[in-house]
Amino acid sequence: MGPALEDPAVLERVMKAGANAFRINFSHGDREQHVRYLALIRSVAKKLKRPCGILADLMGPKVRVDAREYQLENGAEVSLVARPGDPARAEIGISYPGLVELIAPGQRILLDDGKLEICAERLAKRDKGAGKKIVCRVIRGGSLKPNKSLNVPGVSLRLPILSKKDKEDLRFISTAGFDWVAASFIGSGDDVRTIKRFMETLEFRVPLVAKVESAEAVVNLRGIVEAAEGVMVARGDLGVELDLELIPTVQRNVIMLARELGKVTIIATQMLESMTTSSRPSRAEVTDVSTAALARVDSLMLSGETATGKYPVEAVEMMDRIIRTTEINLDDEIVGISHPETIALVCEAGLYLAANSGAKVLVVISTHGTSPRILSTYRGNIPVVVACLNEDIYRRSSLYYSVQPTMIKAVSNPELVFRQLESELKAEGLVVAGDVIVFAFGHPIHTRLGTNSIRRWVVDVPSSQPKRKSKKA
Ligand code: PGA
Ligand code: MN
Repeated sequence: MGPALEDPAVLERVMKAGANAFRINFSHGDREQHVRYLALIRSVAKKLKRPCGILADLMGPKVRVDAREYQLENGAEVSLVARPGDPARAEIGISYPGLVELIAPGQRILLDDGKLEICAERLAKRDKGAGKKIVCRVIRGGSLKPNKSLNVPGVSLRLPILSKKDKEDLRFISTAGFDWVAASFIGSGDDVRTIKRFMETLEFRVPLVAKVESAEAVVNLRGIVEAAEGVMVARGDLGVELDLELIPTVQRNVIMLARELGKVTIIATQMLESMTTSSRPSRAEVTDVSTAALARVDSLMLSGETATGKYPVEAVEMMDRIIRTTEINLDDEIVGISHPETIALVCEAGLYLAANSGAKVLVVISTHGTSPRILSTYRGNIPVVVACLNEDIYRRSSLYYSVQPTMIKAVSNPELVFRQLESELKAEGLVVAGDVIVFAFGHPIHTRLGTNSIRRWVVDVPSSQPKRKSKKA
């Protein structure tokens, strides 16, 4: 989400083109903007009657340079100082005073997502009591714009995982109506738990996505994926913190691990980067999107392409086409995952029944949101419609693989729910007379018991109880 989608007409086209979740990035903008974006997405989704998840992305421990502009000449000397900096003296102010203690001579330091590079040479004293500075040599120079990022590859910065700003943001997020939280620069499972504990003090219970974007996260990957509900391969910062050629391997490992542990996967950054300024993507980008779809990740994310780019609608349309075309050619393979939940067995049985009895769709009636999450982890080719009583589950489920949420009203007789859903699926063209639907549900319906029953249902053919007079009967 960003300025390029502020026009409701554009946002509507983007949703119609297939976007079903939005990220609001707390590294940018102010509260007023975040509130406005949230309201805008909600109102367009409501108008289109579409499920739409909104993810709040915390800035996390990111070091930035100050709000001045610097010209860095190749080979010249520059220094990093705890604020404020001074362009005339080639002293760059940085947001993290503790950095000075962590840098050894020879350390590479990357600026503006790695576009510029400097190398630490020595520590020196600044003028009269102004503290220490890191004297560096410019390796890859250029113009350093205000507030750009600063990365120290391979060095753990030991910043607290939640800054004052993150905590303030989370306080706002917890009451504003977000469906997911994403956390930047997660380094370990403990980082995930720290954030969750803070969210718990706010009584804020939404799933957490850990962004993998540092060397430390790669080392602690299993602990992170175990602790979080989802994981994002945040290739922007990852490509700065790690050698670029490692990104595909890390992406593959994250996908495999998340799949093993049944967690949500998001692939992010530069998926269709050239479409920020061009109406057509490169062949390599098309292949990148298709590769992620082949790996059956839950979600693909666009960043600058839709937030500030010139072709936001075209980018979503292009991504949607690549995903659909790739999925047509995917073999059906239901991947068994051993979930601890008992209801997983019923979900799995429903999925096998649907797949092996020619069903067009599996419908799961969800009271707590566990079944759609579990069903998505099997990565079946059968569309899963999750019928929700609760709007939170309806919106949250939009991030899951192969899951299409719909809202239903509570009724005591399951037959009535099945009929209501049958006519809805017919209206959407998902099924026609004679098609098979498999329903997975809890009996008695809408209770705390969870999914415990499966029903095979033929569209427009009366089952045990006559539904209506049909020609076939
Ligand atoms: P960001 O995260 O866009 O918040 O930096 C994604 C990434 O680093 O790729
Ligand atoms: Mn990032």
